[in-house]
Amino acid sequence: MSYLVLARKYRPRNFSQMVGQEHVVKALANALTQQRLHHAYLFTGTRGIGKTTVSRILAKSLNCVGADGQGGITATPCDVCPACTAIDAGRFADYVELDAASNRGVDEVQGLLEQAVYKPVQGRFKVFMIDEVHMLTNTAFNAMLKTLEEPPEYLKFVLATTDPQKVPVTVLSRCLQFNLRPMAPEVIGQHLAQVLAVESIAAEAQALRLIAHAARGSMRDALSLTDQAIAFGGGALQEEAVRQMLGSADRAHVFALVDALVQGDGQRVVQTTEALRVQGLSAAATLQDMVAVLQGVATAQVAPDAALLAGQSEPDATEMLRLAQAMPADEVQLLYSICLHGIEELGLAPDEYAALTMVLLRLLAFKPAAAGAEKKKLKPAEVVEACTPEAPSPSLQPPRTRASEPAAHAAPAPAPEHTSSPSPAPSSAPAPTRPAPPVRDAARAPEASHAPAPGDLRLPVRAPEDLMEKPAQTLVQPAQAATQTMSVPVRDLPQGDEPAAGAAGLAPTPEGDAWHALVQQLVAQQKIGALVRELALQSQLVARDGGHWHLRVENASLNQATTRERLRQALQEAGQASQISVEVGTVSDSPARRKAAAEVARQQRAEAIVHGDPQVQRLVREFGARIVPGSIRLA
Ligand SMILES: [Zn+2]
Repeated sequence: MSYLVLARKYRPRNFSQMVGQEHVVKALANALTQQRLHHAYLFTGTRGIGKTTVSRILAKSLNCVGADGQGGITATPCDVCPACTAIDAGRFADYVELDAASNRGVDEVQGLLEQAVYKPVQGRFKVFMIDEVHMLTNTAFNAMLKTLEEPPEYLKFVLATTDPQKVPVTVLSRCLQFNLRPMAPEVIGQHLAQVLAVESIAAEAQALRLIAHAARGSMRDALSLTDQAIAFGGGALQEEAVRQMLGSADRAHVFALVDALVQGDGQRVVQTTEALRVQGLSAAATLQDMVAVLQGVATAQVAPDAALLAGQSEPDATEMLRLAQAMPADEVQLLYSICLHGIEELGLAPDEYAALTMVLLRLLAFKPAAAGAEKKKLKPAEVVEACTPEAPSPSLQPPRTRASEPAAHAAPAPAPEHTSSPSPAPSSAPAPTRPAPPVRDAARAPEASHAPAPGDLRLPVRAPEDLMEKPAQTLVQPAQAATQTMSVPVRDLPQGDEPAAGAAGLAPTPEGDAWHALVQQLVAQQKIGALVRELALQSQLVARDGGHWHLRVENASLNQATTRERLRQALQEAGQASQISVEVGTVSDSPARRKAAAEVARQQRAEAIVHGDPQVQRLVREFGARIVPGSIRLA
């Protein structure tokens, strides 16, 4: 007798044998039992999950006459009567399967509909099953609409599709729709174990797990892969052979790769991918395994018990729990995302292992921790830039004022009145207090601050080492006090000669000063991770209501509950806000805006220096040289 492939041999013959589609089976069985039958059903879902099988069982249920020939419509077809056996054997005249993928045209559909006129010859019902119905042409769809809406009472339609989006609404609305779900790997694994037990084939649990995952929710694929693995393994299913057949990397390699990435060990990453190449293991399967592992790690981070339940083997689950503790959650998310997108990229590269190496090294380049280190390296430069007296950022004015004039703290009284009044008039109010004169100087004639007269109050604080300390000094102040002392200078400054502020869409606010300083501190101390840092940098501090701070951000995707909560924790630890709320809206003063404005100003200064350079002017004058716009770049 010829060998029957497992997928056909173990195709379910009744509803009770259907695996993993309980919701559909229950609804259909109830409808059959109560004889409340719809005239058209639409089954949707990916390939190999039982659409055709359900259709055949439905046809048997409708036509079964029972072992004694007296039975009626039933949810439990007998499998022995002429109707049942004929449908199983594919020779029941009243059950027609049309594959729309190869019969797309109106002629085929009309040919089918012509048969609808005649009553069933063998059974009670004619059942027309149209598979991949979305492939039909529009004319073909239109041709069947009438019959689909009001078929003769002996006719049932069963439509099946992997792509319900492409089925016209006019058809969808005439059908009772059931969505068959992809099966979970555990369900597939259990079913495979049962099938192999019946077949008396030895199978290792890990081998079954590998196949169950590789089948991606399709039982037919799982059984086909099992057939293939039995042939490959010479009659038994062994993990090693299955792994080789699927070209999937040993999980140990995957964990080694993730470990190397966590430790930022690029050399080990390259060595491991080289080892994969030597063993001929698939790059795509490696990335898929990494995706699965990272997903397990992320799950383990939020629910440590679930990792064991997700069908992972014991050693894998242990490794995942270990990584879950070693990796920050945002890093897991980033690695997951890069791996997932990397899978598509493999096909574009001439050499998939080279592409794999690149994807993995990208993980290294974009690691949140690496970004933090980068930030750290840049920090001294940023501080110098922010504190250089020529820097246009208004944020450095308050520290200067305060540093030179401790008396400013003693006179916070006028400030609240200040912040509450939108009119520029009161800006002269604090004039009697000592910080005022430098401020007015700055507003009226900013160039004066670039070349201050001897004896100018601000002169001493221009020493770089003094300036370097400023951010820290600002931050030891309670934020509330900081705003009060800052409110005077920053309100006046934008009216001065500040081209950069407008250019970068920056409209400085007193709250912005405090927020900018605080965020700089959190970043410098590495108190906040990548996403939280981004939220902080892109946010504007709109108002402070005691310990409740109101922030605004333009990019809604940054405004996530977990990110907010971590920012709040960081602020609380820093002794600032105990509660924050973040709204989405237009931002005019965020730390990121300030940085951009400072950059624009630096660029303008650099260009001014180049244009003003006598040597350059001589080149222009005598040799007709031209400065190409945009070619002046900051080192
Ligand atoms: Zn029967």
